[in-house]
Amino acid sequence: MEEMSAGEWESLCDGCGRCCLNKLEDEDTGQIYFTHVGCKLLDGASCACKDYPNRSDKVPDCVRLTPANVRTLNWLPPSCGYKLVAEGRDLYWWHPLVSGDPNTVHEAGVSVRGRVEGSEEEIPDQELEDHIVQWPAVLPRRARLKRRPKD
Ligand code: SF4
Ligand code: SF4
Repeated sequence: MEEMSAGEWESLCDGCGRCCLNKLEDEDTGQIYFTHVGCKLLDGASCACKDYPNRSDKVPDCVRLTPANVRTLNWLPPSCGYKLVAEGRDLYWWHPLVSGDPNTVHEAGVSVRGRVEGSEEEIPDQELEDHIVQWPAVLPRRARLKRRPKD
């Protein structure tokens, strides 16, 4: 990963948007809980950042992924292309680098499309616990298949 060009590095992102959901951490156990509340810049339809080039200015706590930190961050979802490559695992059939199609991440049910309940600007921090969901930490059955299903 250290030898990748900037373009190759960016292409590891599958475009799922899961990492742009707000998360909660249990202070005692370190356990991470995903919510279905999005960062204020997350577009819940395209699943992309609405201002990717300026994201650090607009959202100072947006974490820029690097070859070093993808190995240690504990909140990347199990589907994340960076996490899979860091663990020496293969990308799944729906990853755009495998399928050649940016829509397969949505087709496989991996992206956040249609599942973002609201943005952090609409839902206050003190209500986040009421919005904890399991699905961002889980791969749907369809996404775990070896190949793209026919239907
Ligand atoms: S979880 Fe990983 S693959 Fe998905 S959008 Fe975030 S960085 Fe990209
Ligand atoms: S600023 Fe953009 S890339 Fe960063 S968490 Fe928010 S939506 Fe995601």
